[in-house]
This record gives sequence, structure tokens and C-alpha cells, in this order.
Amino acid sequence: MNTQFKIIAEDDKTGARITRWKTNHGTVETPFFMPVATKMAVKHLTSTDIKEIGIQAVIANSLVLELSRGSLYIEKRGGIHKLMNYDGTIFTDSGGFQMIRESFYEKTTPKGVVFRDPLNQKKSFLATPEWVMHVQGHIGSDVAMILDDHNAHTHTKEKHAEAVLQTYEWGKQCVHAKINPKQLLFGIIQGGSYLDLRKKSAKLMESLQFDGMALGGLATGEPIPVMKKVVSTVTKIIKKEQPRYLMGLGSPIEMINTIGMGIDCFDSTYPTQNARHNTLFTMQGKIDIAKGRYIHDDNPIEEDCDCYTCKNYTKAYVCHLAKSEEPIAMRLKTYHNIFFMKRLMNEAKLAIKENRYQKFEKEFARSFGKKKEQPQKEGKKQKNVSLV
Ligand SMILES: [Zn+2]
Repeated sequence: MNTQFKIIAEDDKTGARITRWKTNHGTVETPFFMPVATKMAVKHLTSTDIKEIGIQAVIANSLVLELSRGSLYIEKRGGIHKLMNYDGTIFTDSGGFQMIRESFYEKTTPKGVVFRDPLNQKKSFLATPEWVMHVQGHIGSDVAMILDDHNAHTHTKEKHAEAVLQTYEWGKQCVHAKINPKQLLFGIIQGGSYLDLRKKSAKLMESLQFDGMALGGLATGEPIPVMKKVVSTVTKIIKKEQPRYLMGLGSPIEMINTIGMGIDCFDSTYPTQNARHNTLFTMQGKIDIAKGRYIHDDNPIEEDCDCYTCKNYTKAYVCHLAKSEEPIAMRLKTYHNIFFMKRLMNEAKLAIKENRYQKFEKEFARSFGKKKEQPQKEGKKQKNVSLV
């Protein structure tokens, strides 16, 4: 499928850009953030909420869906868009990321990855490139990901070097095994923190016919300067005329930094997980809404935020609901954080259009970084994600 990719605006001093491209469910405009809908739902939000916020794309996990319900079940109901009642763009992850989860991963063979079914620990199965393309094809997502050999950043260079070659072999097989002509297929660049391996992987991936390029194996606990070095190295050498997706990153400052390096889209559980743990994002930093002082605060979470939560409720009320563990607190907190991500992307776009991205990046880092109410770190939280 042709993405009809276009670069709409570029910042002069940084790599930041606005791009537009087509998926089977309309045109998306980057930069954008994708909330994670592992099992066909963004936790605590309905598809109507997501649409109302203006979210252009979400990402589901094809491996988890295949194990829990089955891709044929989804196909029988008209596909994932119809079932979710969401007409935006839907990405699916192939399952490669589950290789770093002990509950799923058994071993890697040249044919594919042997996973354990966490719902039935005794059952193991081989996820081959052909299998992941069939599963994603039946689910009916707009963007499918290749099966990649995903290693933890702590693994040896030899392991990462093997993963680069293995991902290339599987990528080739995925191109041939694609069953859904309406689906876009993205390649995944691996290589851990090793810049030479990243360059090699980028070159190998670009020798294949993909509709977009993803950077995998990042935001999994490696130091932030290392992650940034990898992103800046890769974005300098891959072709500009394609979508660039940084998988698993969702912390606001690093998103803004890597947009400046030329990244177009992101996905992460970061804003939804933070919301669940009472950490809410504002342009002036993170706040812990369950802190005692907010119980007497009659202002919204953020004064100029137009989200459903801020338009209707005060910090005092959301603090009370969070402390009382009222279920609705989860929705109100999550709504605000996802709305914040959308707002942040809009601010980034405006800065690119007005050619002042560098200034915007510095100002945002200063204002968002100043509050220190941060109960958790991203790497730690990602490991705690419950997928089943
Ligand atoms: Zn709000």
C-alpha cells in the first residue's frame, strides 16, 4: 500500500518535522502519540473518549489478542476497528517486545520465537514471520510490525549482532508473508546501544520494501543519553521520505527531544500508567494528585486545559476520588494525561510551523522538569505492565 508520504513542514535548526501519510483509515499527521490498547482498549477510556480527545492512532498487541481471543474471532466480527468502534488508525505490535517478558518468552530459533502462553503455562508455540503476518492480517490493523529479535539492553554485543541479522531475515520473510494488501508494514531497527550495529541494522532494513521504519529495543531501562545517541545516529542515516516510529517511548521530555531528531510517532503506556498511580502531567511538570494539599485546591488540574476532567472538576474533587479509590478517578486521571499528550503534540507542531522548535524544546524541558513530584521511573514501570 502506498502511504503517499509528504513532509509538510521542517524546522530549520533541528530535525523536527510535520509529515502526513495515508493509512487504510484516513490520513495521519505527525508528530503523534499512540496510547496503548493492548487488548483493544485504552485502559479506563472508551473509543468515544479517544476520538473526542483527537487521538489519531492507537496500538494493540497482536500476540496478546491471538492468545486471549484469537485473530479469527476479531475478523469474524468485522475486524478490530468495527469491534472497538474506532475509525482512527490502529497499529499492531508483532510480539517481538514480549521477548523481554519472562512470562511469555521461552527461546529464539532461526524459524521464529518460541513463546509460552501465559494463560496456560504448559502450552508453547512458535511465532514465525508468517504466523505474525497472518495474525495481524486477520486482526485488520492499519499498520503491522515485522517480527523482530528483541533483546534486553543489558545483553552482550554478540547477542545484539545476532538479533540484527535475525531481524533482517524475519523482516524479509514478513514482506513475503503479508496477507492483507490494505495493511502497511514497518521494519524495525535493532542493535541495542551499539551504534555500529544500529547503522548496520538500518542499512539492512532499508534494503527491504517497508512503508515505514521503527526503532525498537529502546526505552527499556538504558540511560537516556544512550537512547538519544542511538536515535540521533539512526535518524541521520535513514531516508527522510518515510514515517519514523520510536517504539515504547512516552515520557514527555524525551519525546520532545527525539521529535527534534526527526522522530514522527511514539507509543507507550507511560501516561496511562502514571495516571493510574496518581501522577498527572501539566505543562509545568508532574503533580501527584493524591498529595494531601490538593484536597483544598479548588482549581482544575491545569488552568488552561480543555479536557473533560479539567472543564468539569477541581483538583480537590479528583484528589478526593483518588484517595477514596473511586473507580471513576481512573477515568478522570487517564483522560487528562492522554489529553495532555495530544496537547503537547499540538504545541510541538506549532513550534515546527513557526520555526522555533529549539526554543520550544528548551522551554518545555525547563517548565516540565521543574516539579519533582515523581513517584516512579519509566523503566521500572514498563516492567510492571500487566498484559493478561
Ligand atoms: Zn485536563
